[in-house]
Amino acid sequence: MIASRLPSRHARRVVLLNPPGRELYLRDYYCSKTTKSNYLYPPIDLVVLSGSLARDFEVRVLDALAERLDPPRALERLASLAPDAIVSLVGAVSWEEDRPFLEEAKRRTGALLLATGDLFREGAAETLAANPSIDGALLSFANGDAGAILRGDMGAVESAVFRDGGGIRERPPRAARGSFRVPTPRHDLFPRRGYRFSFARRRRFVSMLTDFGCPYPCTFCIMGTLGFATRPLADVLEELAFVRSLGVREIFFLDQTFGVQAERARDLCASMAGRGWSWTAFTRPDRASSGLFEAMAGGGCHTVILGVESADDARLREYRKGYTTEEVREAFARARRSGLRTVGTFLIGGPEDDEDSFRRAVEFAVELRCDFASFNVAVPRFGTPWREELVRDGLAEPNRVDMDQAGERIAMPTRFLTREEVLRAKRRAIRSFYLRPSYLARRLLALRTLHEARSQFSEGLALLARNRG
Ligand code: SF4
Repeated sequence: MIASRLPSRHARRVVLLNPPGRELYLRDYYCSKTTKSNYLYPPIDLVVLSGSLARDFEVRVLDALAERLDPPRALERLASLAPDAIVSLVGAVSWEEDRPFLEEAKRRTGALLLATGDLFREGAAETLAANPSIDGALLSFANGDAGAILRGDMGAVESAVFRDGGGIRERPPRAARGSFRVPTPRHDLFPRRGYRFSFARRRRFVSMLTDFGCPYPCTFCIMGTLGFATRPLADVLEELAFVRSLGVREIFFLDQTFGVQAERARDLCASMAGRGWSWTAFTRPDRASSGLFEAMAGGGCHTVILGVESADDARLREYRKGYTTEEVREAFARARRSGLRTVGTFLIGGPEDDEDSFRRAVEFAVELRCDFASFNVAVPRFGTPWREELVRDGLAEPNRVDMDQAGERIAMPTRFLTREEVLRAKRRAIRSFYLRPSYLARRLLALRTLHEARSQFSEGLALLARNRG
């Protein structure tokens, strides 16, 4: 039984671990990828878990990526923390590095080892069976499962896979619904230095979540399979008060669609208004008509990240996006009128994409006057309906784990382009959007703080270095 490996309750020390990597990986929220430039934010799974676990355990955070620790130094630090349990991020993108690192971590510390990440959204029991160093995998980070497992209260575990006696027990993921509560995350446990975020206007920032999952059904995205639940606003406000007490005013909200419930969002923004907050959030173009952007700007939001995905209405229908390119145009115009900077996210390298699709995506980004464009390469994400189709059509290899939406490694070809051609087209798209003289002049004139100038300069250089011809 998993709990019998833990020492007495009073000796329990839990380390929340972001393992080291040859590259900067983002492995949180079931979507692993390499950073597109140089950015790295506090991983939201660990942020949320820090609050839940700190109620019952002594919690430490070791973010080997933020601290730029190589594997030997990360192992040394981990051993010096003498954990009784480790909860570690893992990612499909970095699995070939994560697996040996975690094996060694287990050997060196003897700690009980739980993992969380995209890799476990499909075939979790098989992955656990093949990796004896991992004792269990969390299938949700926003419920009480991690604490229940570490307390040995297995009856309370909702969605996880864990060893039980000689076997493996699986409690499949449950779609989130309604409202959920998590204790205030312990942002103070995360490193003060080492995180960077391209859109932040201040150096120090936190990652926050006011809801979980997403109620929309976009075929390529894991978020729609998680269900959707919101945190009570009182809990969110308590977290904001804690963040403020740490002297932090900059926030990256990782809600996948900020403002799904318009009135709730307006209330939150009104509570933040006039208090010096400065923040970034994701939302959908079709939320614009609810007056959301105006409320966000009033609450201190400076940057809104909007899913565009495609310049082609047929493609938007295929992906079940539920909005049109015309709504996208209106949303960008409205965001600009509200004084928000805009980031358009585009999905490129889908099954039907050819060279022309890449060109049209860039033209659409230019037409929308996006302040930033984020070109995400299609990946057959575990647990999505899309993956099933792509495997059936022979475009995705069922046993290929390595995938990266930043497109450093291309996971699949399209019907018209090889992987190498997708990689070249992606690099060309990024250069042709960012290296326009008019764009560069606009960016320079829009800089507001010294931190912003430094960060955008270094992020821009890193982005272009990764996308040389
Ligand atoms: S709206 Fe965005 S986060 Fe939600 S399912 Fe669609 S792509 Fe994913």
